[in-house]
Amino acid sequence: MLTSATAPHRRSFCHQRPFLENGQSKNAPYVLHYTTTTRKGAPGEEDYGSVIGADGANSRVAKGINAGEYDYAIAFQERIISDEKMKYYENLAEMYVGEDVSPDFYGWVFPKCDHVAVGTGTVTHKGDIKKFQLATRLRARDKIEGGKIIRVEAHPIPEHPRPKRVLDRVALVGDAAGYVTKCSGEGIYFAAKSGRMCAEAIVEGSENGKRMVEESDLRVYLEKWDKTYWPTYKVLDILQKVFYRSNPAKEAFVEMCADEYVQKMTFDSYLYKRVVPGNPLDDLKLAVNTIGSLVRANALRKEMEKLSV
Ligand SMILES: Cc1cc2nc3c(=O)[nH]c(=O)nc-3n(C[C@H](O)[C@H](O)[C@H](O)COP(=O)(O)OP(=O)(O)OC[C@H]3O[C@@H](n4cnc5c(N)ncnc54)[C@H](O)[C@@H]3O)c2cc1C
Repeated sequence: MLTSATAPHRRSFCHQRPFLENGQSKNAPYVLHYTTTTRKGAPGEEDYGSVIGADGANSRVAKGINAGEYDYAIAFQERIISDEKMKYYENLAEMYVGEDVSPDFYGWVFPKCDHVAVGTGTVTHKGDIKKFQLATRLRARDKIEGGKIIRVEAHPIPEHPRPKRVLDRVALVGDAAGYVTKCSGEGIYFAAKSGRMCAEAIVEGSENGKRMVEESDLRVYLEKWDKTYWPTYKVLDILQKVFYRSNPAKEAFVEMCADEYVQKMTFDSYLYKRVVPGNPLDDLKLAVNTIGSLVRANALRKEMEKLSV
């Protein structure tokens, strides 16, 4: 998203060069170069007062402000359609955990209107992604057998926010900023929400377009974002680190998810995109049960290690 403005000195937008170049006036607008789809790729350019980089994980805008890199997972997904079997997934999504489908994430079957998306992801073993995808397909074999693959997708998924998300009058949102949550890999809501929050900050800071925004106006969006969602990202980060690290830890996770209190807390947190406050007594029980599950998982891991020696 871009907001228009006019000013005496123009600055070129180019992903290989930083937005702020020496000798340029601080209030100069950004010049965005583009090609149109309507007039056979005819090049054009336009001035903008501020830029919101909503251009995804491989963001050019992020490169333009030297926003820095992030660790990323590679996600692989096949969209499969079949007449008879899709009924099974009409109201159902599946998640698979285990070293076969992913050493550090999960495999999934998500219903998508008239077809299903079957996929998996990994941060640590990106070179093996096709092997994990095959295993995921095998897990769902009975339900997707005979289905036709209509699309294959592979894409990076950011693991954490970029070191820099705002510079001057440029802000990053969504995958460009690195707003996918750990554990679930959810990013659509956070992309839309961050775009909205950033746009609201610009409208407010510019007094509805009456003045040019400044970096401090865009920082209002960052502060609000971090205050609202930092705990969500932190909790999911911890959950992924604790429970996705080995098969026994994943077993402990599955065991924990059988608890109705965990299901309610998880459901509410996904629904409201925040860590919902729990009941202190139930939280204590959950902590004890979690430790119990992890201890059992650890004992199981040791037994498995003995067997494999
Ligand atoms: C396989 C897979 C499965 C996923 N499943 C889920 C899921 O089930 N639920 C969920 O919440 N999240 C999921 N995610 C994550 C989610 O897709 C992303 O977090 C989300 O789409 C980010 O939105 P975005 O708008 O920031 O970026 P994107 O969706 O990547 O959109 C960026 C847009 O910018 C355009 N663009 C880029 N560069 C330029 C340019 N130079 N000029 C013009 N346009 C440009 C691109 O064409 C694209 O349309 C999944 C991701 C993957 C890879």
